[in-house]
Amino acid sequence: LNEEIRCIGCGAVIQTNAPGELGYTPVSALEKGLENGEVYCQRCFRLRHYNEIQDVQLTDDDFLRLLNEIGAEDALIVNVIDIFDFNGSLIPGLHRFVGNNPVLLVGNKVDLLPHSLKRGKMTQWLRERAHEEGLRPKDVILTSAMKPKEMDDLLKTIEKYREGRDVFVVGVTNVGKSTLINQIIKNTAGVADVITTSQFPGTTLDRIEIPLDDGKSLIDTPGIIHRHQMAHVLGDKDLKLIAPKKEIKPMVYQLNEGQTLFFGGVARFDYIQGGRRSFTCYTSNDLKIHRTKLEKADELYANHVGEMLQPPRKDEVDNFPELVRFEFSVKERSDIVFAGLGWVTVNEPGAVVAGWAPKGVDVVIRKSLI
Ligand code: GDP
Repeated sequence: LNEEIRCIGCGAVIQTNAPGELGYTPVSALEKGLENGEVYCQRCFRLRHYNEIQDVQLTDDDFLRLLNEIGAEDALIVNVIDIFDFNGSLIPGLHRFVGNNPVLLVGNKVDLLPHSLKRGKMTQWLRERAHEEGLRPKDVILTSAMKPKEMDDLLKTIEKYREGRDVFVVGVTNVGKSTLINQIIKNTAGVADVITTSQFPGTTLDRIEIPLDDGKSLIDTPGIIHRHQMAHVLGDKDLKLIAPKKEIKPMVYQLNEGQTLFFGGVARFDYIQGGRRSFTCYTSNDLKIHRTKLEKADELYANHVGEMLQPPRKDEVDNFPELVRFEFSVKERSDIVFAGLGWVTVNEPGAVVAGWAPKGVDVVIRKSLI
């Protein structure tokens, strides 16, 4: 390629040599794209046409460089997180990098949580969790990138806090940042304007800029992969199954000590001690929950993973990591969170439970959201 060509989806420099890396597109697709005047990298192409998630490799070094660049700017930082996966959304050390720049925390995918949940309560919960991580956002707002009508509120809030400055949108992969940016583009500039916008000169990283009224820009940045998410253990198809698409219907289970719940074959919840009590499961409506006896759980899993307990599917079982156990003694009403999959709320304190997830995926306890 003589001339730098950029993907109109994510702004990455198009390359045809390294599949799986930023900006890759097959030669044939590039030729077609040039004919139509719309060149997408393979990732954005798939996202647009098949709604498929494809990870782009952004190394930790590149991401640190990106954060440092942002720290040196005078800008509003918009940190998009997935409220369904708060822990998996965190950018480690973000608060150290933003410098004096104000941060607007945007909790995306609000459409997944029960409509009965009060927004005020949820934003307060998010604010508390952010403070625990050392991040002091100027404000917290909920949104859904799937719902065009939510953009008005979001754009108004951004306008309020940016005070004539540029806006940097940051987030780890899978939080819905691309979907959100696309929605913003539809609501503001229109795609044509974005393509003709020149990229920041002299920076190493790929950004897409959306022009704002006053000559400033809203700048999308590449996401970094959060490794301890289910997304990196499961294939695309299974990921679609476990990632909730619409409002979650919580499932309440009355359990006795010594009972186990399987979430397909990807996670397991053991109730060990604390008398008969109720647990509420917040996972995708498509993921089947099986109840069994704790003493039989290992055997059941060994015999039925890939069949009754799916995902993983049968042909994936051999490559699927073993489940690893984390035990918790619950002192207050809490959620046991399986990163990227959902959580089980332990409704009253005083229980001993264990959460299992594929090796490499986090299971954590937190103050309950709902
Ligand atoms: P990115 O990696 O942060 O750019 O995330 P994407 O925009 O690719 O979105 C990741 C997944 O989340 C996709 O399957 C999207 O369809 C989905 N998604 C994005 N925003 C929302 C939202 O507001 N609600 C729901 N339910 N799903 C969303």
